[in-house]
Formats: sequence, C-alpha cells, structure tokens
Amino acid sequence: MNLTIDAGGTNLRAEIWHDDICVAKKDAKSAKIGLYAWIETLLGEFKDVKNVGISFAGQVQNGIIVSAPNILIDEHDIKKVVEAKYGVTLKIDNDLNCAVLAEAKEFGVQNICALYVGTGIGLGAIEKGTLIRGFKNVATEIGHIPYKKAPFLCGCGRNNCLELYASGSGIAKWMEHKKLLCDASLQELERTGEREIVDMFHEALLSAIGTTLTLFNPQVLVLGGGIVDANQYLESLILKNIKNYTLSNSLENVTICKSKIKNAPIKGALLLKDYND
Ligand SMILES: [Zn+2]
Repeated sequence: MNLTIDAGGTNLRAEIWHDDICVAKKDAKSAKIGLYAWIETLLGEFKDVKNVGISFAGQVQNGIIVSAPNILIDEHDIKKVVEAKYGVTLKIDNDLNCAVLAEAKEFGVQNICALYVGTGIGLGAIEKGTLIRGFKNVATEIGHIPYKKAPFLCGCGRNNCLELYASGSGIAKWMEHKKLLCDASLQELERTGEREIVDMFHEALLSAIGTTLTLFNPQVLVLGGGIVDANQYLESLILKNIKNYTLSNSLENVTICKSKIKNAPIKGALLLKDYND
C-alpha cells in the first residue's frame, strides 16, 4: 500500500492507494495538527503502508523540512524519523516538483514546466526527465525573483518580489494598501473599476511565464492553481500576449495550456517512490 499526502498551506489531504486503486481519503487542517502527528495517525490506521509520498507546500531538502509558512511542523527530520519508527520508505518534495512530475507523466514529455498561481506563485521544472533543483533544492522559486518595488513586504522579507504582483496574496496586499473592501477576486476588482490591480497582475503573470519560457525552454508549459482555475480568460490572454515576453525561438512548437489533472501535487507525490534524480 502507498500513502500519499498533499500538505498544503490550508489543508492536509491524504490518499491510500492499493495497486492502482485509491481505497481511502482523509483530510485535516494544516494549522490544527502537526504533519508528523497526522502521519502517525494514518500509519496507525493503515498498517500495510510501505511507501509514503508527500507533496509539501514549503522548502524541503533531502527529506528534511527547511521551512513552511502555513503548516504546523512538529518534526523537521521527517524522513529519518518516520522511516526508523515505521519501517516504511518516505519521500517528500516541494509541491511544484510533485505537480510537474505528474504533468510530465500526463503529457508524456521530458522537458516541461508547471507554473501554479494561487495564494503564491510557484514553478516546477523538468529537463530531460530530471527535476531542476539547484544546489539547495530552491532553484525554481520564481515568486521571489526581483521584479518591482512594492509599498509592502513579501513573506521572505523583501519588497520587490514577483509574488507581490502575480499571486492571490499579492492582490490581497495591494487591496489592503489601497483600502479596498471588495472580494479579492480579479472579476470583482474589474467590476468595481479597480483595473490597475488587475493590469498589474496580468503584466506580472506574463513576465513570470515569459521568464520561465526564456530560462527553461520547455516543450510544454502547464498552468494551474486556484487563480488560473477561477479565471478561464487567462489562458487566451496569455496565448495572445506571450510573444511580447520571450524570444520567438522559445515559443517554437511550445504547448501552453491549463492543467487537466485534479490535484496534480498529490498525484505527483504518488510518483515520488519511483523517481530518482
Ligand atoms: Zn519574496
């Protein structure tokens, strides 16, 4: 049996897989229970689990949790501790790395990027079948590339990150700064005449996608996340304008489209057991 977990900033979701069949689903709130305590509960209930795969919305390195802004962490050295106590194999990776593994399988390609826009903006990249990690597994933190100064700070402590413009949390910060009280959705901002925030978001999103295409030259670029899902028009806006944000060579025969997988990070967590760098 395999246990896969999607540890997100709001929810913890788990699936128990027996061969190719999902036999149980569980969920919990990320702020209510520590990840390790929850894994102990699940492994206590499902005693035949041999592999644990975790998609984690934060930084991890070699099975050790480095940081997570919104998840209750009661054990950083999670791989070592769980494996020693339960005799299972545990693999944990960044959520976008998991998502892009699932997308690579879905599209059957070796060069692919997954760009997700929700509360934050995140990127996973695979080149020639291998995840691009960098020295400390933080290579594709696109939300924190320097973009433009804002009158408030990013979660990382700087004031010029792309995420301050091209994410749900960025939109919320701009609304707070402008003392706007409407819903923090693009449609609502448009409806109430707050075009400026919407335009800034579009510009920053196109910059993020253009940067991704320019740096990684993927065959497929998949878009996902809550904001992409909630705004159907973004896909055509991107396809129409992206030529102004990257080289024409970077766009040659490239597929840019929305994700078709429901919860790609948890699907990718299931693939971790067979993935080796
Ligand atoms: Zn930042």
